Amino acid sequence: MIVVPLGVASATPTAVRHLPSVALWREGSVFLFDCGENAQMRMLQAGIKRSKIEAIFISHFDVDHFSGLLGLVATLQLQRREKPLAIIGPEGLKEFVEYNLKFADIQPTYEINFHEIADDIESEVVHDADEYYVEARPLKHNKFCVGFRFQEKDKPGKVDADKAQKMGISEDAQYKELKAGNDVTLEDGTVVRSTDIVGHPRPGDSFAYVTDTEYTPNAVKLAMNTNILYHEATFGKDLEDKARETGHSSTADAARVATEAQTKLLVIGHFSARYTNEHDLLKEAREGFYPAWIANELRPIFTDPMHERGIITPKVEIKELNKKSGNKNYKGRKNHKSGGSKKKFRSRKGSSNRGKSNSSGGSSKRSSKDKYKRKTYGSSTYSANIKDSKEDSDSSSPRKITPRSSYDDFDRF
Ligand SMILES: [Zn+2]
Repeated sequence: MIVVPLGVASATPTAVRHLPSVALWREGSVFLFDCGENAQMRMLQAGIKRSKIEAIFISHFDVDHFSGLLGLVATLQLQRREKPLAIIGPEGLKEFVEYNLKFADIQPTYEINFHEIADDIESEVVHDADEYYVEARPLKHNKFCVGFRFQEKDKPGKVDADKAQKMGISEDAQYKELKAGNDVTLEDGTVVRSTDIVGHPRPGDSFAYVTDTEYTPNAVKLAMNTNILYHEATFGKDLEDKARETGHSSTADAARVATEAQTKLLVIGHFSARYTNEHDLLKEAREGFYPAWIANELRPIFTDPMHERGIITPKVEIKELNKKSGNKNYKGRKNHKSGGSKKKFRSRKGSSNRGKSNSSGGSSKRSSKDKYKRKTYGSSTYSANIKDSKEDSDSSSPRKITPRSSYDDFDRF
């Protein structure tokens, strides 16, 4: 399974974060968990086909979590989709979608199978297929909100073909019997036991999607022994009170759930816009649980990197959170942070900034360097990107995009 965060913002989008949505790829099928505004566009950029969506799971009806749903449903209609689509979420979802489709005079070419989740459930399997199922449990938010667990069913154990052959098994039918767990009696009366040939069933992979919520035992149940737990960490430890007040989690809450659930990997997302550096949040989360990662939009997370790498390749450059030199503009802006609040970055030509860096004790050398950076801001980045894209044209690395403004050079939309 491959998990691709499409939007890691909370409440409102920022220049570099989109509204909540996470895509899960499994054996060619795609499942969406929440569908914030721009989710369908982020899928395009992530290199995930919208036509491959099997089911969309909506956690709750805060607008940021479902504002992209209607646009996506309409796109699938325009694509002349034929296979059914499952849409799963709290009660009222069907009415919302159907009303809007009627309002826009859209008659889908495909069937939409709604599954509504009642607000008094303890847990419910909301989607069931041959090889996997999805379980929902209520979380603890200021309105009814559910978390999901995507669970692959156990895979059959591996057949030891060499051993089988040595024991006298030769026909396909006999292999089938053994695989099904039945013993086989050979012509000479020897019994070949299934347990001697077929290994233990292998547990399927699992993924839990937990947002928006305070700490709750249900989150732990959903995440129990998962390969990947995507958990919100809207706030840092400094704002635990605010987290509780708004029905959200802090980094410590996310780490606590991960620890109690013994998940293999914690991925934190749903960041409050006040945190411009997600690494501060990651550091806190890692104090409580390791391994923990930041949900980086469009960057795939694999349950089986050996076999899954390369299946999903982003079509745009991903914002590099780890590279300090990843983007000169970003760094430049960060340097100015010492001079004051975030707002000051926006007054690009304002003399107030220059005055500020002098008054805050920066040397004249430093401020002239800054001035140089400011003057060449757009053009230097532009030419650098052109050069990069030429270099890239021969390789398989993702196509880079040029910025429209200094604020959206990580992603255009
Ligand atoms: Zn939210």
